[in-house]
Amino acid sequence: MDLENLRKTDSAVANYIDLELKRQQTTIELIASENFTSKAVMEACGSVLTNKYAEGKPYKRFYNGCGNVDKIEELAQERAKKLFGMNHANVQPHSGAQANMAVFMYLLKPGDTVLGMDLSNGGHLSHGSPVNFSGIYFNVKSYGVNDNGEIDYEDVLAKAKEYQPKLIICGASNYSKIIDFKRFREIADEVGAYLLADIAHIAGLVAGGVHPSPAGYAQFVTTTTHKTLRGPRGGIIMCDAEHAAGIDKAVFPGMQGGPLEHIIAGKAVALLEASSESFKEYARQIVMNAKALAQGLLDNGMNIVGGMTENHLMTLDLRGTGKTGKDMANVLEMVGITANKNTVPNDPQSPFVTSGIRLGAAAVTTRGFKEEDMKEIAFIIANAIKNSEDEAVLKSLRAKSLALCEKHPLYD
Ligand SMILES: *Cc1c(COP(=O)(O)O)cnc(C)c1O
Repeated sequence: MDLENLRKTDSAVANYIDLELKRQQTTIELIASENFTSKAVMEACGSVLTNKYAEGKPYKRFYNGCGNVDKIEELAQERAKKLFGMNHANVQPHSGAQANMAVFMYLLKPGDTVLGMDLSNGGHLSHGSPVNFSGIYFNVKSYGVNDNGEIDYEDVLAKAKEYQPKLIICGASNYSKIIDFKRFREIADEVGAYLLADIAHIAGLVAGGVHPSPAGYAQFVTTTTHKTLRGPRGGIIMCDAEHAAGIDKAVFPGMQGGPLEHIIAGKAVALLEASSESFKEYARQIVMNAKALAQGLLDNGMNIVGGMTENHLMTLDLRGTGKTGKDMANVLEMVGITANKNTVPNDPQSPFVTSGIRLGAAAVTTRGFKEEDMKEIAFIIANAIKNSEDEAVLKSLRAKSLALCEKHPLYD
């Protein structure tokens, strides 16, 4: 990447960016929440738009000189609405967690009851973890997954009836099955709760038509833009028209100051890309690649929470191997595979150690990896874990992962 000016001004930062590019090019990225955004998106994010203050909404700003950013933000809003089939979009949230925070702020008073998915069962921090604002200021009850790694909808219904939440949250950071939004809405209606679908992880799959959409079921939809959707780091909130003004007020002035118009421009570009035919093909390939990886791991004698995945990710279950998620994620890094340790349901280990590793296929699919490459990755992972003490084996596996990276160049 061309860092001509940066190199002159600050060679230290430029060098680390060079090294990071090299790391991304030469390792296999299986962190399920990461992806490689396009150069077009990065150009928008690195543009002069970073100079502009634009507090407020398009055409209703508190600053002058917003004519161009108004048009860009409007494009992002219109593209988000069309792509996800929702009435209203606010593209200003700086992140997914802040998108959720704004929905809480609009709908709830401190102490109100929320029903969300438990973090250790695959939910997100911002769905009511005791260390997050959501768990500190609100009365949070949670549901989890059964032994098959699936949401037990009868259990969600029973908990909703018992706790009478004002808001039910569905959507997860580590859940490998299709989410039944219709069922969640029926449960919410039964107890008079609102439904928030947080599609941070699966937004690209929804956009590409390989996961059902929450539109028509959830009154509120939040997402990140940088996971399967493959845009810049950020968040979006979508909702029914009747909640539009309230949500906008919760984002600004409720929670945030000036919007990041350079990032909003990147979101607009990513949303355009995600509405193309080739993105549909990409989304289909993500799921085929995830399934090929899961099958390869099963064929190599590994266990996966819930068995075969239905989306872009899965959790390797290391219980019974005598090894931990923490140690094995480090071993995978030694063989050139980046992934994160993760709890499995009812994990006997602490969240800092864990018995699982979460694996996702979105980033490698962007590089052009196909099913046969995923089988090879499964072989590398299984053998690295089995031979985690054997340096010679690990070295030969590292050579294999590097060859895969060279077969599918990134940002060349
Ligand atoms: C990643 C994620 C978020 C938070 O996104 P950030 O941009 O990291 O704040 C929120 N919800 C879910 C389900 C996620 O997976």
